Parts: sequence; structure tokens; C-alpha cells
Amino acid sequence: MGLEELISKMKREGTLRSREIEEALRRVKREWFVPERYKKEAYADYPLHIGEGQTISQPTTVVRMTELLNPGKGMKILEIGAGSGWQAGLLGHIVGRKGMVVTVERIRSLAEMARKNLERAGIRNVRIVEGDGSIGYSDEAPYDRIICTAAAPEIPEEWVEQLKEGGRIVAPVGRDIQRMVVGEKKKGGFEIIHEEGWYRFVPLIGKRGFPR
Ligand code: SAM
Repeated sequence: MGLEELISKMKREGTLRSREIEEALRRVKREWFVPERYKKEAYADYPLHIGEGQTISQPTTVVRMTELLNPGKGMKILEIGAGSGWQAGLLGHIVGRKGMVVTVERIRSLAEMARKNLERAGIRNVRIVEGDGSIGYSDEAPYDRIICTAAAPEIPEEWVEQLKEGGRIVAPVGRDIQRMVVGEKKKGGFEIIHEEGWYRFVPLIGKRGFPR
């Protein structure tokens, strides 16, 4: 399957709805973020290994999570789990020059790979931080949006603290299989506004994640 075929499939199935995300998929090509040996499979709709036992998520999942996140121009977004850098790159394109994405990765070699991939893709508004994103990243807070691309045991309170009022969090929650949880910070507190799925993500490992 090629990029255009994948885009058509995701539109037909109702996963891809936003014009901004469609544009980002064309501009920030998945083939630039997968290891050389998987280039031919870059537009197949399944996750691929990126090393260190980690994966670049399935395109349908990345698009669905991005739709749920509802990112917009000028926003500041925190991602937990940089992996290959593809999700961060898509978000970087969507938020544009006045926006910014901070992505945290706990595995050094992956953080370096994400940096190289994003550089090659010409994405300049993504900052890659090596560390434990299960406690967020307070240095750049507050954020308009927070997205986690690893399975969390629950939504950590640090993420909610680092979110702007009116802001939104999207994260897969659960141990072996996960629900995709969408929550918003309102005056009265944090509220789960939507849940769907079942998904299968690699675990979030860290202080507020699962033990190593
Ligand atoms: N978003 C990535 C992409 O576009 O390729 C895919 C992410 S992969 C499914 C999940 C990533 O989360 C892995 O790279 C893993 O090392 C990372 N991770 C797990 N626990 C973490 C933590 N506490 N802080 C930061 N990254 C973490």
C-alpha cells in the first residue's frame, strides 16, 4: 500500500476526518521515520519495530489519537513517548511555526533517532527531551494538549497539573490492553469526556508508569 492508498482507506473507514491531519500525513512522511529495512512497509496499516523493543504505532491509531487530541495552530503540545518522532512531527506540522511540540523519550538511542528523523524531515518546532515523561515535563508547562503514546496505568496528576485550563489529554490506559481515554481540564477539575477502544501499546515505564 502507498501513502495515497492509505489516506483513502482511512477516509473511507472514517478514521481520517481533518484536512490538517491529511495535509500533515502528506508532508511528514512515515517512510522517513521507519528503519531502512521496513521502508517498503511504511504505509502498511500496522505497527513496526524501531529497536529497543519499541514500535512506531499503526497509522490508523496515530490518526485516531490525533483526531481525538484536536490540535490547532499555535498550540503547545507535550507528547510522552517520542519513539521514531513521527507522531511529534505530524503535530509539529499542525501547530505550525507559532506552536511547539515537546516530546519526552526515556530511551536515549530512540531520542537520538527521533532527533535525526525530525531533522531530516525539516521539522524545527519539536523539542526532544530525554527523561521520564510519566511525570510530564514541567519546564515547558503549561500545555494546550498532552498525548501519551505508551500504555499508562492511569492519567498521572502531574499531566493534569501541567495542562492549561480548557486543555485536553489523550492516552491509552490499561495494563495488557488499553482503553483510549480523552480528558479535559475544566474549572471544576479534570473530567474524562470520552473513552473508546481496545488498543495494545508498549508500557509507559517510570515513576507514574509501570515498573521496568
Ligand atoms: N510516538 C511514537 C512514534 O511516533 O514513533 C511511538 C511511541 S512507542 C509506541 C512508545 C514510546 O514510549 C517508546 O519509545 C518508549 O520508549 C516510550 N516510553 C515509555 N515509557 C516512557 C516514559 N516514562 N517517558 C518517556 N517515554 C517513554
